Amino acid sequence: MSQAPATSLQDIVSHAKEYGFVFPSSEIYDGLQAVYDYGQNGVELKNNLKNIWWKAMTQLNDNRSGGPIVGIDAAIFMHPLTWKASGHIDGFNDPMIDNKDSKKRYRADQLLEGKAEQYAAEGKAEKAQELLNEMGRLLGNNELEAVRELIIAEGIKCPISGTTNWTEVRQFNLMFSTQVGSVAEDSTVIYLRPETAQGIFVNFLNVQKSGRMKIPFGIAQIGKAFRNEIVARQFTFRMREFEQMEMQFFVRPGTEMEWYEKWRDTRLKFHQAVGLPAEKLKFHIHEKLAHYANAAVDIEYQFPFGFREIEGIHSRTDFDLKSHQELSKKKQQYFDNDLDENGKPFGNYIPYVVETSVGADRLFLAVFCQAFTKETVGEGDSQKERTVLKLHPALAPFKAAIFPLVKKDGLPEKAEEIVKALRGEFRVFYEERDAIGKRYTRQDLIGTPFCIAVDYQTLEDNTVTIRHRDSMEQERVHISELKAKIGYAVSEQRILELI
Ligand code: ATP
Repeated sequence: MSQAPATSLQDIVSHAKEYGFVFPSSEIYDGLQAVYDYGQNGVELKNNLKNIWWKAMTQLNDNRSGGPIVGIDAAIFMHPLTWKASGHIDGFNDPMIDNKDSKKRYRADQLLEGKAEQYAAEGKAEKAQELLNEMGRLLGNNELEAVRELIIAEGIKCPISGTTNWTEVRQFNLMFSTQVGSVAEDSTVIYLRPETAQGIFVNFLNVQKSGRMKIPFGIAQIGKAFRNEIVARQFTFRMREFEQMEMQFFVRPGTEMEWYEKWRDTRLKFHQAVGLPAEKLKFHIHEKLAHYANAAVDIEYQFPFGFREIEGIHSRTDFDLKSHQELSKKKQQYFDNDLDENGKPFGNYIPYVVETSVGADRLFLAVFCQAFTKETVGEGDSQKERTVLKLHPALAPFKAAIFPLVKKDGLPEKAEEIVKALRGEFRVFYEERDAIGKRYTRQDLIGTPFCIAVDYQTLEDNTVTIRHRDSMEQERVHISELKAKIGYAVSEQRILELI
């Protein structure tokens, strides 16, 4: 087998649409920019990823491994003061700039980062770093006019119009707002949450008290988040409505760096376990830290469009709980009765937090890009090209497809028996149409790891052929062995054991 050249994002988008993974939202009306719907296969793959993340958090962590993690499911709407406390109302902005000729809008920081990437590619690493430092300084001081001047001085042109005819730079808040209340006069502006984390912070004491949790412990959540991204490109990488899987780990102040390192390493292992190879993952340590963090690192995956963030691990100090305490006037303290080195209880404190935050849609895209394979198979005259989704079997939408060789002579009935025996445990697909080769091809395209063929010999000795997706090898096994044979290969346990 030989591998074809690198895939483009366009190949991924087309395959995702054609085989029921991701559709543009409201496509019959020409779609809605940066909003996508998951189709019949996409929802299965995404749910499998979410389930594994959920289990990796809530099942693999307990007192013996350092601290338990429990889950919650908070509402998308939250009291507006939440976003005041978190800093989102005042500071969740991106600097935007328009090109007057093309009327296209850009993120000023991304234009400068693009230029820095270009310098780096030309071997001018120092120049690239200087530019990023200068950008960081200007944005940090909110010197927006100077940011515009820098863009012009660097000769950055609009890729559409090719001109440097730029407007001023403006800050744009990324939160979507709407109103609650039935009458216009008493309606209040509320926001669609831009991150799920705040739902965890405001419930910290509820969970701690009702679950009698001892620090360290974590709270995990999966849910929708909304950001009015200025430039939304690159498919499900940057959406306006997306899903986050976040975990806040509450620790004793002073111990946060140990936990930060532990979570950084554990999360890297997770990504490898779901099938992203080590050489396509890297850490990107933040030099310029957000207002709430004392350490931060991104895990980046090499997408067809370059290394980009899929997850952030942030040491958030006590910033969030402290701000909520100040604004709500409700104490957010924990009483720690463990003893310090002088034999005294640690006493009351606001815990520090280490957060892991991964986008379900970005993880989906990374796993999908990684699995998407075009290869040449066979020898000599029987050589052919095939496209196959080499998903980890535990992530595949269907675990097995069952095919009677022909649609007669009792083969469908025999195949049906197998479907019935397996379907309670795994998602299986049954098909009797077309030549068996075609049926294999269709399963390769959606990543089904095993195809089970029922033929005349099956009627005699209860054996079937299992065809393996990646090697395309076939083996003959007894029907009674199927569950065991497929079961472990497609089990989430196989992934969880690696984390
Ligand atoms: P970026 O710099 O790419 O905008 P971010 O640093 O703002 O991302 P965080 O606020 O740290 O992202 O969010 C945590 C995770 O949520 C990201 O690692 C990413 O996986 C996901 N995420 C954030 N914004 C989006 C989006 N617009 N679409 C899809 N996923 C997103």
